[in-house]
Amino acid sequence: MAQGRARMFGLVFSLLAAWLIQLAPSVAMTGETAEFVKLADDVYAYVGKKNDANAMVIVTTQGVVLVDTGNNQPDTRDIAAKIKSVTNHPVRWVVITQYHGDHFGGSPLFTPPATLLVHERVARDLAAMKPHQIKSWRKRFPERAQALEGLAPKDMMMSFPDRMTLNLGGKRIELIYVDDQYNIGDVAVWLPESGVLHGSFAAYKDRHPDIRPDYSHGTTITMLKQLEALLALKPRIVVPSHGPLSDVRDLQNMVDYILLARQKVRVMMDRGLGLPEIVKGFDMNDYKGWDRASHFDWMAETIWRELSGLGPIVTKSAERDVSGVVTKVAEAGRNLTLAAQGREIRLRVSSDTNIEGVADRTQLREGMKVTATYIEPENFNAALGFDLVELGVQP
Ligand SMILES: [Zn+2]
Repeated sequence: MAQGRARMFGLVFSLLAAWLIQLAPSVAMTGETAEFVKLADDVYAYVGKKNDANAMVIVTTQGVVLVDTGNNQPDTRDIAAKIKSVTNHPVRWVVITQYHGDHFGGSPLFTPPATLLVHERVARDLAAMKPHQIKSWRKRFPERAQALEGLAPKDMMMSFPDRMTLNLGGKRIELIYVDDQYNIGDVAVWLPESGVLHGSFAAYKDRHPDIRPDYSHGTTITMLKQLEALLALKPRIVVPSHGPLSDVRDLQNMVDYILLARQKVRVMMDRGLGLPEIVKGFDMNDYKGWDRASHFDWMAETIWRELSGLGPIVTKSAERDVSGVVTKVAEAGRNLTLAAQGREIRLRVSSDTNIEGVADRTQLREGMKVTATYIEPENFNAALGFDLVELGVQP
């Protein structure tokens, strides 16, 4: 009898749970497949699948301007195919709105002959690329091996300090950098004739921004300064770095969002709460259905650092070399476990990892003998494993 009642409770409970899950708001998300959307004459948005990075395409009689290069290689090839479906003109310029792999990583499919257009802070980073990063950049598209021989991104780029205007085939294309000490080189692209704006990182719609305590995406002040400049343009359509297309109201919405987030942290600071309590007590659940609620902890800490007058958190790290045997391969070679020097080392393969001895990470198998160079942070726990710099697979 008691057992029957327990079973009954179990059933009611699971029905209730299923009902609650259905009631939970669905997260704002782009479709299962990427879309190529015409925004104006000769202007297209490539809206990445499932909130992957977006891109923008501007066709002129003097060639195509591509803004950002796709989340990963299949997306980059898809962008190239979509461009070919609307014009025979070649891609001549590639604007990078944000120096992160999901925006910059597809560049070797187009450059050369196309030229990279970047803010000068990004130009400095590209000029400082390490040999393993250059090697892995050249290998992203095997069909480009010959074109890229002996080249690095810095060998085909132009940079600008704050603004740059391209006049191409009767079209005006403005590149805008909004100055702030923590703006790492984010650039907006404005087409005054059609009212279309690629708003870069600051222009998210329905997505909690990924601001981080190392300020690698800038700060809330950096974002507010950018949003102020973008709002003044009164764009008709906005292409954000990720997620659904938006407009000027979404820019204003993001301003309100950031002001509320800062106010929440300030109120807790005024009550004398310390960082751990502030991180625990912080949420932006007022914005229901927005993507990336996982960003709340970082956001709270970033705002706390800003309001405390602290700069970015600095993580120290050291490069280590090991040789060992692969004991586990997961996520198509993204995550590796090595047995080396009597211990187990977990490693993460990124788009910057240079792999020698096999074509790419998907070829990695258990039992392979390898040499590895990885980065070990000194003052935080790399829960997901260490970032791998080089991996050599022995024959
Ligand atoms: Zn991104």
